[in-house]
Amino acid sequence: MDKFNDTNRYNTNYGKIWFVGAGPGDPELITVKGRDLIAQADAILFAGSLVSEATLRWAKKDCVISDSKGMALEEITDWLISNAAKFKTIIRLQTGDPGLYGALVEMVQPLDALKIEIAVVPGVSSALASAAAGIETLTLPEITQTVILTRVEGRTPMPDGESLTELAAHHCTLCLFLSITLLKKVQQDCIAAGWDENAPIMVVQKASWPEQEKIIRGTLKDIRDKCIAEKVTSQAMIILSPTLGARSWKELKKSKLYDKTFSHRFRKAEKI
Ligand code: SAH
Repeated sequence: MDKFNDTNRYNTNYGKIWFVGAGPGDPELITVKGRDLIAQADAILFAGSLVSEATLRWAKKDCVISDSKGMALEEITDWLISNAAKFKTIIRLQTGDPGLYGALVEMVQPLDALKIEIAVVPGVSSALASAAAGIETLTLPEITQTVILTRVEGRTPMPDGESLTELAAHHCTLCLFLSITLLKKVQQDCIAAGWDENAPIMVVQKASWPEQEKIIRGTLKDIRDKCIAEKVTSQAMIILSPTLGARSWKELKKSKLYDKTFSHRFRKAEKI
């Protein structure tokens, strides 16, 4: 048995802490499970910089709610532990999906040390919400079948083999988190990796946030100037992909899934 799922292992003096993905911003993009947990929660610690407060409208009237915006990691885990000592259902509400740039493991380890029961509820990542905002697909038959979720090296160093120049050399879809202030490096590294300076690129700020979403389209060459002109300098996703703009292409390689000459488990091919 997985030792982390052995319920005898948990200290019953504490409640259960749920790490819930709130989704990219639109409160309706939280999962049904996440919303139901919010409605039951006794205490919620939300990441106020990126999670819409509107998501908290489902919380009980007497739910203890705090914003972690100004908290350091230890303050966050102390908050979770002290509320888990008092209550049954505690939520750490995170932006997008908790497993992407969410400091999940750093928060979980001190809770494991106290044998506090935890669970993670996934969320819609901003990478997916950004593609949706632009009516873009991240994969397209015979164009690219691969998506890389990454970031550009800033204060956090990149592991060996994961520099943007190396990753961009695959010429697949790249979704760049936490990199909007590093567009110059994005341009340099992608051009060094062989991308054309006229390759289309899309930046989405506050994807899915009602009335705040902004989509900037450009080329590798001009995207930085466009973002500066539009004052898009935070909370933005950069998508570089050979699929961008496919909505208006005249010719597409159609997916085999819906090809009438292709058999699969649920449909027999037509003879032509
Ligand atoms: N766990 C989150 C990512 C957290 S890191 C997720 O799955 O989406 C924070 C970065 O995510 C931001 O710097 C930005 O690049 C991106 N981001 C978060 N919310 C966003 C949104 N609504 N629109 C565009 N980018 C967003």
